[in-house]
Amino acid sequence: MTSPEQTKDYIGVDVSGAALRAALVSSGGQVVERREAALDGGDLVAQITRIVAELRDASRGGVAALGVGIPGLVNPETGRVIISSGLPSAVSGDLQAELKGATGLPVTLENDANAGAFGEYTIGAGRGSRNMFYVTIGAGIGGAIILDGKLWHGASGFAGEFGHITIDPEGIECTCGNTGCLETVASAPNIVRRTHERLYRDGTSSLSRLAMNKEFTAADVAREARNGDDFALLMIERTGRSIGTAVAAVINLLNPERIVLGGGVMEAGALILDPIIRVAGRRAFQPCFEATQIVAASLGTDAVSTGAAMLARDATSSSKAV
Ligand SMILES: [Zn+2]
Repeated sequence: MTSPEQTKDYIGVDVSGAALRAALVSSGGQVVERREAALDGGDLVAQITRIVAELRDASRGGVAALGVGIPGLVNPETGRVIISSGLPSAVSGDLQAELKGATGLPVTLENDANAGAFGEYTIGAGRGSRNMFYVTIGAGIGGAIILDGKLWHGASGFAGEFGHITIDPEGIECTCGNTGCLETVASAPNIVRRTHERLYRDGTSSLSRLAMNKEFTAADVAREARNGDDFALLMIERTGRSIGTAVAAVINLLNPERIVLGGGVMEAGALILDPIIRVAGRRAFQPCFEATQIVAASLGTDAVSTGAAMLARDATSSSKAV
């Protein structure tokens, strides 16, 4: 028998970026409709409720539940947002209860990296695996662990802090208080910082097209690398090597079936993925490495919203949502 939930849709909302991204997703994981709105810093519940109402109108079978990916830590027992530097208002109120009240839907909240991982795991590049490690590399570096088909939160919810693995004990100070974390080397702002430093130091770098543009971004470095600029290629290659060193540690620790890498920095494609795989292969314990596929994420900016929708689907079917 088909339950009504199987014909219904789910809504996933991603509030981790500058814009609010939302998707109407079928129970099978197909994105039916997308909406985007600027996050204006006002009432978060009202903004999410508005976009949810638009997507509900677009649903034929009706919407069964709502999932929201939050840039912060969510207590899996209470559904309360405990820490969020990007969205302090989400911490002060009871976002889950307020959204449930405003939409009338069961609501699941999850950390954004965890939601992105679950999206890739259910309908993206992690599909078919049971044990998966997910990495997202953009303005910051996040990670998430899926073990035997389930998100692994750890003792206090912080499992998978891949960006804070020490990569250079002599390195610069990180926002977390440690020195030389992977994030201080490989996040988008740090790729720009390292590129500036090297452009300044290296006389031959005047040959680089990047030197003509003082306000370049990590995406510019990747673009120039794709266009064959040797200096930009070197920066991307070195970034990949640092990520590969951290990936080797994950392979040794978890023996995952698949590692899925996403986020803006991975848009450099094979130029960054190849050195990651090469260095991981050189540094990881060989029997572990040989069992691990290292692949690029496939959902792009849909990862968090679709993952949040799929988490809402699974929570509804196991009656975990409130
Ligand atoms: Zn750190």
